[in-house]
Amino acid sequence: MTTTGTIEIAGLDGGRIKLTSEQLEDLDSRVQGRLLVAGDQGWNEAVAIWNGMAAKTPALVLQPTSAHDVAAAVGFARERGLLLSIKGGGHNIAGTSIAEDCLVLDMSGMREVIVDPEARLAQVGPGCLLGEVDQATQAHGLATVLGFVSETGVAGLTLGGGWGYLARRFGWTVDNLAEVQVVCADGQLRTANRDQHPELFWALRGGGGNFGVVTRFSFRLHQVGPTVTGGLIVWSAERADEVLAAYRELTEQAPRELTAATIMRLAPPAPFLPQVWHGRPIVGIQVCHSGANPAADLAAVRALGDPIVDLVGPKPYVALQSMLNVMEPKWLHRYWKTWFLPGLSSEFLDAFRSSALKVTSPLSQSVLFHLAGALNDREGDDGAVGNRDARYIGGFAGTWPPGAPADPHGPGPETVGADPAVLHRRDLRQLPVGRGRHRPDRRRLWHQLPAPPSREGHLRPRQPVPRQPQHPPGHCEQSMSSWEPSPFLRLVGAGTGKPDQTGSEPAERMETPSWLAPDPAKNGSGALGLTRGQPPA
Ligand SMILES: Cc1cc2nc3c(=O)[nH]c(=O)nc-3n(C[C@H](O)[C@H](O)[C@H](O)COP(=O)(O)OP(=O)(O)OC[C@H]3O[C@@H](n4cnc5c(N)ncnc54)[C@H](O)[C@@H]3O)c2cc1C
Repeated sequence: MTTTGTIEIAGLDGGRIKLTSEQLEDLDSRVQGRLLVAGDQGWNEAVAIWNGMAAKTPALVLQPTSAHDVAAAVGFARERGLLLSIKGGGHNIAGTSIAEDCLVLDMSGMREVIVDPEARLAQVGPGCLLGEVDQATQAHGLATVLGFVSETGVAGLTLGGGWGYLARRFGWTVDNLAEVQVVCADGQLRTANRDQHPELFWALRGGGGNFGVVTRFSFRLHQVGPTVTGGLIVWSAERADEVLAAYRELTEQAPRELTAATIMRLAPPAPFLPQVWHGRPIVGIQVCHSGANPAADLAAVRALGDPIVDLVGPKPYVALQSMLNVMEPKWLHRYWKTWFLPGLSSEFLDAFRSSALKVTSPLSQSVLFHLAGALNDREGDDGAVGNRDARYIGGFAGTWPPGAPADPHGPGPETVGADPAVLHRRDLRQLPVGRGRHRPDRRRLWHQLPAPPSREGHLRPRQPVPRQPQHPPGHCEQSMSSWEPSPFLRLVGAGTGKPDQTGSEPAERMETPSWLAPDPAKNGSGALGLTRGQPPA
């Protein structure tokens, strides 16, 4: 830590608290981990989160290396009434891992994974990303249920419930949680499982955090792979009706070893897609088959024929788990909405298709994931995760670069393909979205609605999603028959990111896929190389 002066830090009561250099030294002496202030080496990485729109600047970061460090920091914060937040992988969509001017516990220094193949258990540090756990467990041909993007943090995903390709076989991620070690607000380290502190264990299994700082997760493992059949098949969105019908047929008959998601979007300028399709509307099905007979089980999809690309084939499970990483660099701005669905009615699929086709941002996408299976087998109240009657998740993921013009492509619901008047406010309310058992406070597994008010014993209130500007409906209409490149394909990336404390641009320090990288031919304007998008002759 480079500072020798006083630091102002946000208090739990909304006020400001001054920490003298002696107090900072006191904290430093109580812990092994690094204490960082703005300008220190590693600061940028420590405060970087996935959703650029939700970025905030804390006052102080501690990178604990042990449960002891965490307990010391919680005690220090409690004694002084400091606002404390906890960062796992930084992938929370609403950016809840960092509060403005707070003390952040950046758990990235606690990334140990210990696999016991005999007991089929993995002890996982709270700073681990999904890929690190997959790598360690797959070395033994084992896996637990984790998500689709391997740079997501294990901690936030698990505390929110968690699902991925294996959820249909083995349930929510938290259904595979054997035990948790957690430092509670009183500074005590507790072990929570079904026998010890069962209520705390229940809350941690999907409650979303704020019950303490988890210092270790223990997951049950299953035999998976290491080779599975998976990948993406892509068609022109002119065939969206057919493809969505085939997706419904596929998922209604699929064995639990098969998980499929469908995606509608403008084709990204990715090397795996022919250039002539870049920027054009496409529909894809992404699959993971971890059992026998993948060819027979995928027949309904393959029968559609004539795809733009078919990338489905045998591959290592860890490769499939990281296949979508390239689409999710950290610095972009995002706004997501998702719903748990009990089924895919024709009416819903029509609304989904027509809304998805209105998207004008080449970075946004509309998705449906199949969930039905093991998670439906348990009692509704088995863990705070709830949603035991969910069979699908539907979502719109709006994405735009920092500095892009706010209208018409800014962070309004339109960005995600949904005319608010048509889709979010009216049609979806009439569709079978949930069955009344979906309690509002349990529907934030992925879309991270603003959190409920903080409860007693919580470390801090979660941060609300920033209010979005409203845009007039209907401005992003785009019909399939009269398709031409969206103006957004030319506008995208015109701006740059907000400079951080050391003056560098977020885009420079983040991992950016080469095909999303700023185009030097455009005078470094950050034009993302997304200006092509010509329809085929
Ligand atoms: C690109 C992308 C893909 C995703 N895919 C999936 C998916 O396939 N399946 C799925 O289930 N979800 C998915 N999600 C949602 C994701 O699981 C949540 O956003 C989750 O919160 C991310 O966890 P994190 O640790 O990276 O986040 P963070 O932002 O670091 O943390 C999320 C929340 O958990 C709290 N927290 C973090 N660590 C601890 C700890 N040790 N103790 C107590 N509280 C803690 C934080 O304070 C914060 O409130 C995805 C998100 C993104 C951005």
